[in-house]
Amino acid sequence: MISIEEARSIILARIKPLKSRELELAHCRDRVLAEEITAREDIPPFTNSAMDGYAVRAGDTRGASPKKPIKFTVLADLPAGQVSRIEVGRNQAIRIMTGAPIPFGADSVVMVEDTREVEDGVEVLAEVSKGENIREAGESVKRGDLVIKRGTVLRPPEIGMLAALGYSRVQVIPSPRVGIISSGDELQEIEEVLSPGKIRDCNRYSLAAAVAQYGGIPISLGIAPDRKDELKKKLTAALTTDLVLTSGGVSVGKYDLVRETLREIDGELLIRQVAMKPGKPLTFTVVRGIPVFSLPGNPVSVLVSFLQFVRPALLKMEGKTRLRKPEVEAILEEDFRERTDRTHMVRVAVTNDGGIYYARPTGPQGSGILRSLVLANGLMVIPPNRGPLANGEKVRVILIDEPEVK
Ligand code: AMP
Ligand code: MG
Repeated sequence: MISIEEARSIILARIKPLKSRELELAHCRDRVLAEEITAREDIPPFTNSAMDGYAVRAGDTRGASPKKPIKFTVLADLPAGQVSRIEVGRNQAIRIMTGAPIPFGADSVVMVEDTREVEDGVEVLAEVSKGENIREAGESVKRGDLVIKRGTVLRPPEIGMLAALGYSRVQVIPSPRVGIISSGDELQEIEEVLSPGKIRDCNRYSLAAAVAQYGGIPISLGIAPDRKDELKKKLTAALTTDLVLTSGGVSVGKYDLVRETLREIDGELLIRQVAMKPGKPLTFTVVRGIPVFSLPGNPVSVLVSFLQFVRPALLKMEGKTRLRKPEVEAILEEDFRERTDRTHMVRVAVTNDGGIYYARPTGPQGSGILRSLVLANGLMVIPPNRGPLANGEKVRVILIDEPEVK
């Protein structure tokens, strides 16, 4: 049996980022940029007003105050989106809206709040200096600037910047397509009425949700019964995706046929067990170049194994380089007696009280008790043969979700 770290490095050594593709900008959020983005134009493209107000020559406002207003003639209105053909001269103003290009002659904008409208013009009640309330062409981005580097994960600000620069399509690493198969004679589709001895297939749904959460496209391939021919059919069909996940059928029972089936379709077996609880029977195979994770069947093991091994692999395929969930030190809030010779991933509810993390196990920890994860936002990592742990001890916790700060 190998450690979690060893397993992760064996897996990641076999995972490559997908080939980049040009995608429409609307589909690029959370994708990794595969080209350098250089500005083809200035932003803003022209010098414009930062305020609603009056475009004037700054020199003409010298000495203006509420007690000593200076009167200007208003030549025209200039809304955003229009260009003025009139030039602003001495003690003249153009009523200008935010975003409108600064007219010839003017070098500053007096904001509306510093003016008073009068019958034949406007009174300016405050001085402005040259350039005040004006946004210079190129002040945000200059043509030729390297604006977004290759390898950047595109967040809303980057998407906005690309739009502003006129990139309607960009080269990114696409979302991996992930085939998901459940296996087991006992499994039923969730909309059916349960027959005696059967249970609902929950893993296909939790895995699909996990895949989508970390940027993949889940492709549900249904339930395979515990028969090699059926498993073979489903697995072979799954090899058209970028990554395959199965659950169930990898322990040592008589009907655990996934590993054998993978061997028969020439899978290269790289991992068969990991010293982790839950999630010991993790199988990792590469079949015709496609990585296949055969996860255990128990609903908790499935998701813990996903977080530990599939998530980093998926992120690497997406071109991402931050593959680890944040880990924090926390104070254990009750005794935890159980001790094992594997790394124990105990489901805990984590709170953050003024920067100090506290962790409380979420009840019975059986690998079939999905409730332990429903109530959890963290995994307490107990090294092999450590314990029992006492209330108040410092422990290491992987944050599945960052708790709110109290
Ligand atoms: P196995 O590894 O196939 O022996 O499965 C271990 C346990 O997980 C058994 O109790 C299975 O019934 C259960 N199990 C397997 N697959 C699923 C699934 N897709 N949804 C819910 N439980 C499952
Ligand atoms: Mg089974």
